[in-house]
Formats: sequence, C-alpha cells, structure tokens
Amino acid sequence: MKRFSCECGNVLFFENSQCLQCGSEMGFDPAMGTMVKLTPESGLKRCDNGPTHGVCNWLLAKDDTNILCTACRLNRTIPDLNLYGNLPLWGRMESAKRRLLATLLGLGIEVHCLNEDPVGGLAFDFIQTLSNPPVTTGYAVGVITVNLQEADDAVREQTRQQLGESSRTLLGHFRHETGHYFWERWFGTLALDHPLRVAFTGLFGDAGLDYATSLNRHYSQGPPLGWEQSYISAYATMHPWEDWAETWSHYLQILDGLETCEAFGLQLGAGSLEVTPFPKESATLPENLPQEPAEDQKFLTWLHRWVRRAPMFNEISASLGQPALYPFVLSLPAVRKLRFVHYVASEGRPKPQPAAVAANPVPVESTPPAPAPLATPEAKEQVAA
Ligand SMILES: [Zn+2]
Ligand SMILES: [Zn+2]
Ligand SMILES: [Zn+2]
Repeated sequence: MKRFSCECGNVLFFENSQCLQCGSEMGFDPAMGTMVKLTPESGLKRCDNGPTHGVCNWLLAKDDTNILCTACRLNRTIPDLNLYGNLPLWGRMESAKRRLLATLLGLGIEVHCLNEDPVGGLAFDFIQTLSNPPVTTGYAVGVITVNLQEADDAVREQTRQQLGESSRTLLGHFRHETGHYFWERWFGTLALDHPLRVAFTGLFGDAGLDYATSLNRHYSQGPPLGWEQSYISAYATMHPWEDWAETWSHYLQILDGLETCEAFGLQLGAGSLEVTPFPKESATLPENLPQEPAEDQKFLTWLHRWVRRAPMFNEISASLGQPALYPFVLSLPAVRKLRFVHYVASEGRPKPQPAAVAANPVPVESTPPAPAPLATPEAKEQVAA
C-alpha cells in the first residue's frame, strides 16, 4: 500500500475517513488511486455504505447516478444487518476487499460488477454461516461467495489449525478467489495449444483434471510428501486451478507488502544478508513464450527485495509475541510460477474472455465448511446451487 498524507502533514491510512490532526474529511478516490480531501469543490461524494453503515471510505463523482462506490457495487448479496454481530463482520470483509481492489488498480486491472457487465463482471455474495444450506467460500462463474463467519477471528483461526495452514486471512481469501475469476477470464477459453495455455500447463499442470476428484483426494489423503519443493502452499497441490489461485494470491501479497515497506522507508536489516539469492534460471519464462532476460532480472531484484526482509518481519513479530508475519519458504518452482503470474499480470494478460461462457465453468471452493466436517463434492454442489 502507498503512504498517504494530508495537506496538514499528518500521515493518513487507507481506512481513514478523516484526518485526525486537522479534522479534514477524507476518503479514497479509486479513480485517482489516492486519499483525497472531500470538499464542496472536490466534485466527489461519499459512497453510501460510509455514512449509512460505516463500512466504506471510498468516494465517487458527485454527478454519478450510483450511490455506491465501485468496490461496494460489486456486492450482490450483503449479510442481514438486523442480525446482531453481522455488521462488524461485514465491515472487516469490506476492508479486505477494498485493499485487494486497490492492489488490482495499481496493476491497471479494473473490475466491473456483474450487473454492469453480465458476461465479464464479478459479484460478491456475503453469506452468513447460519444460512441453509451452509455456505463455503468459493468461486463460480463470475461470483465469489464468502462465508461471513470467516471474519470472526476465532472461527478463522480454528479453521486454520484444522487445515494445518501456515496462514489464513480475509485478504488472502479475496486474493485467492479473484485468482479463480481471472483464470477463467484470461485462460478459460484459450485454445489448448495457445502459447499461454501451454506455458500454464507446463508450470501448473493440466487444468482439465477433474476438480471433484482432486478435491476428494486432497481432503482424504492430504498433500503429497515434499510438496514444499514445488508449491507455495499445501492447498496449491490440490488442482492446477488452486495452484494458480494460491500463486496469484502470493504474488499480490508480495506486491502489496513490498510497496508498503518501501513507502514507509523500511530498510533491509542485517538478517537480510543471510538470504541466498534465487538463481537466474528460476526467473525465466517457459521456453514457448518470448524470452525477456532484462525483465527476468527486474523480477528477481524485486523478489529479493521482499525475501531479504522476511527474516526481519518474522523476528519483529516474534519480539511482539505474535506468529510469523511471513511463514513461507519459496522453492525454485514456486518462484518460476510467480514469474509467470508477474508476466500475465503486467504485460502478457490475455484478452479477457467472457467469464459466463468460459469453457468448463466449474465451481471451485477454497475452504471446506468451518469448522468441520471437511468438504465433499456434495458440499461443492450446494455452493453452485
Ligand atoms: Zn490533516
Ligand atoms: Zn463503497
Ligand atoms: Zn480456490
């Protein structure tokens, strides 16, 4: 995240609606990608979810006929706010969602709501767990379903432990699920012999593998031994779609994290010297794509700037009695996959395909119902229903 400041000199944060030093009304303007002061001359107004529910600080043009900002318009279903406890849970969801969207805006990726773009848009359904049938977080044909209960720290931590995950965050969920959306839009209808699709298969495996079988295998047998040597997470081993979504999510995590470090002038610590740099070969694109040695080097330098800080992050959190901030080790195959994601996200983005007509639009889920039992294909079908 960038570092913002008020004209009075005070530091502003992405979530602020007001400058706490001079009292100016502030908000985030997604069109400008920055925090701006809200004045009668600014030509801007607040998203209605700010004054009405206190869950949004984004702005939109005053003459816009919409009352909600571009982030809130993505919501197709919001939780029942008459139910006690739902409002703060939803607020946390919205914060994480806006942070993801800000990272995408930084990449030049605009996401439109399904209402405005019925074939290529995206929608979010925030569903409380008590709904019947019970809901799991997942993605299907332009719609990301989010289990509201995931915003409850105790529930999310319990699920994290049950699944043996090193990290489980709301922001991670939003990044991961949009990974499925973008895969569908960018790769879903590409011919199997399209160079990007060939490159994808070489790195992540055959996306045509039966998802339900893969899911069953993952939850009955667990990840293969030694998965750390090739994957970014145990969950990534389940299916090439999940590997892509996990790698996409990790890429956005580094992008956002490093931007924040550098915006705040966080220097490399002494521990950074102990990190062995990744070899050049780990950052080359698959052979069937145009080779870009200069860009490979830029990518590696970028990645090193991040991983060299990782020991410092983890030591700081240990000093504060907190779990590791960055509990990941990047293997060389994982670095190659990140390089491919970087290529796709920055310059090699395929022309968007209409999500709704993408080949094999199969619902995917990233989380079994919390806390138990573990997911079954039947549960997955319920999500689709
Ligand atoms: Zn101020
Ligand atoms: Zn909003
Ligand atoms: Zn997933």
